[in-house]
Amino acid sequence: MDSLFEHRNCPNCGENDFEVLFDSNIKRGDLQGGIDTVYMLPGGKYGRHVKCRKCQLVYVNPIEKASRINDNYSEMENIDASIIRRSRLLATKSQVKLIKRYKSNTTLLDIGCGEGFFLFNASKAGYVTKGVELSRDAARYARKEFGMDVEAKPLEELQLVENHFDVVTLWVVLEHVPYPLPLLKEVHRMLKPGGLLAVSTPNVGSMLAKILGKRWWEIRRVHINQFTTKTLMDILLNAEFKNVSSVCYRETISLLYLFTPILKYLKVYEKVKTLLYPDSILGKIMNTIMVTYPSKLNYSTVIGFK
Ligand SMILES: [Zn+2]
Repeated sequence: MDSLFEHRNCPNCGENDFEVLFDSNIKRGDLQGGIDTVYMLPGGKYGRHVKCRKCQLVYVNPIEKASRINDNYSEMENIDASIIRRSRLLATKSQVKLIKRYKSNTTLLDIGCGEGFFLFNASKAGYVTKGVELSRDAARYARKEFGMDVEAKPLEELQLVENHFDVVTLWVVLEHVPYPLPLLKEVHRMLKPGGLLAVSTPNVGSMLAKILGKRWWEIRRVHINQFTTKTLMDILLNAEFKNVSSVCYRETISLLYLFTPILKYLKVYEKVKTLLYPDSILGKIMNTIMVTYPSKLNYSTVIGFK
């Protein structure tokens, strides 16, 4: 079992002084099948959560071997794009609007771009875009559905030149990354002087997270760093970003997207899924009804400049 895990010092400040918040519920057999879903399912598996005594960052320690985590994402299959598509297209439109306030019609790199919903809206709004995504399946979707320039590689393999991009975005990515500080430093290197970085992660300091504790839907096996708005700003400052501040956009989720994980959790999804499929009448209706809320209810969103 131990050979499957690695110990981390605090991913922000590098210290090794922490208190344990709660223990892992992962057992030996749980790690064999890779990741089957990135859905927000309560009651799933999670690692041991600790809190750094020096910088207050909440992180999972130990983590599954970083190399294994990368392999899992590469092989993950994007099976539910039809369910999330409408919601993600709306939510990412609001993210583009947020970016436009600071930089418009420039070059933009989206790291961990998934199925390319944000990239599609950004390129429609006039940005010259590029995406990087570990999941080969999601990258293929972005290329095929939206014609986006997306590479299915780890960022380090792209060997992008210094001072190249005007905007870099990391939407709900940092909570998955074993070593987020080196990644942010690499982003800093690639940005032009004055370039913009926008980052979002689930907010462990939010009211919902505090009330639900380890039953909060963002406490999951694949989330290994849990930022508050404060610790997210701290790690950007640590990577030399300037004028770091907290922002907000409009999140959107369709009834269908909202209910699917609940039905899966109740183990009735398989029985009713043909009824709810996005092509069915009920599925279509539920995919049209959108729930809109300010992103800060569940996420921290922070910007910074080089
Ligand atoms: Zn720390």
